[in-house]
Amino acid sequence: MKKWVFEKMLTVDGWKRNYPVITDAGGRIMDSGNNPDEVEIVKGISIPPFYNAHSHAFQYAMIGLAEKPARNSNDSFWTWRETMYKVANRVSPDDVEAIATMLYHDLLLNGYTHVAEFHYLHNSPDGTPYEDPAEISKRIISAVRTAGIKLTLIPILYQNGGFGKPANPEQRRFILDTDSYLEILNSISLDHSIHSALGFHSLRAVSGETISRLSENYIGDAIHIHISEQLKEVADCLSFTGMRPITYLSELVNLDQRWNLVHATHASSGELDLIASNDSRVVICPSTEGNLGDGIFPIEAYSSVKGEWCIGTDSHIGLCPFEELRILDYSNRMTSHRRLSFQDISMDSLILNIHSSGAEAVGSVPKKFLEEGSFLDVLVVDDTH
Ligand code: ZN
Repeated sequence: MKKWVFEKMLTVDGWKRNYPVITDAGGRIMDSGNNPDEVEIVKGISIPPFYNAHSHAFQYAMIGLAEKPARNSNDSFWTWRETMYKVANRVSPDDVEAIATMLYHDLLLNGYTHVAEFHYLHNSPDGTPYEDPAEISKRIISAVRTAGIKLTLIPILYQNGGFGKPANPEQRRFILDTDSYLEILNSISLDHSIHSALGFHSLRAVSGETISRLSENYIGDAIHIHISEQLKEVADCLSFTGMRPITYLSELVNLDQRWNLVHATHASSGELDLIASNDSRVVICPSTEGNLGDGIFPIEAYSSVKGEWCIGTDSHIGLCPFEELRILDYSNRMTSHRRLSFQDISMDSLILNIHSSGAEAVGSVPKKFLEEGSFLDVLVVDDTH
């Protein structure tokens, strides 16, 4: 048994000085305990850690490659995607493990203690499955164990090249039939030290029928999908289905607290209501959304309907959680001409809310900070820096 004394700690009941926490030999929080074997004083400012609810680890290798000035006047998300495909089609399992290990180490240093890996790089470079179809998933798990971060692995189903269109050759490493996908998902779920979740790349990459069927039969805690990130994607969805993406998704599935809508940048006000009233949540990735020119998530409108949200680093162009919040806040201020992006919520409550919402997004972990029985998991900020 060990007693920790945190000099300054943000708890669910506000800021506390010299806040004691008792843990058992395995590091789990105990209700109380006398005569600890060891006492440790933790200096600095202690707050709930951040959960990174959206990551594509291999993209950490392409930071900078897509930043060459004006390759052409139409540089956009779609040309960035060409660079991403080139990297995706070159990396070996060893490369992925090395890149992911470095990324997860760097995420820990920046204050993230749990990462949700949105993993769609499944096949060998020629598009055929590896002998073990979960080869790269297992490399991600290995990277996590080396780096020491916690993981929710979200194998991603990717089948089409656009609404009603076949996949193109550049997407060959991502494509799985539904049975192979479920095999990978089930093989991961059986390893109980790893959290897993169901994931669809996007409405453009998986048919509505498949999304509907798989999510209805899924018994896990969390489901993730990229949605409404780019204007072209909204236009394509409108012309294919007659509906905006989030509206279309709500027709396909029972939107509930399991659903994590990644980006939702171009959600209409009716769609923001839809997400909030069904207790689904948005995973906002401000540095990537800015880098790719996606648009600005309407955080002020979403906060006013008390929508739940958390953050992710996505392409890893930025790794600092405080910077993510600053970009989200400032981009809203620049368009609203007000300084109330998060409505009347204090920064303390904001950090606690992002923590509990991030815990929901990664699934199967304690939702409340410092909950009895959970592992002690705290972000300590150096207050002398
Ligand atoms: Zn993404």
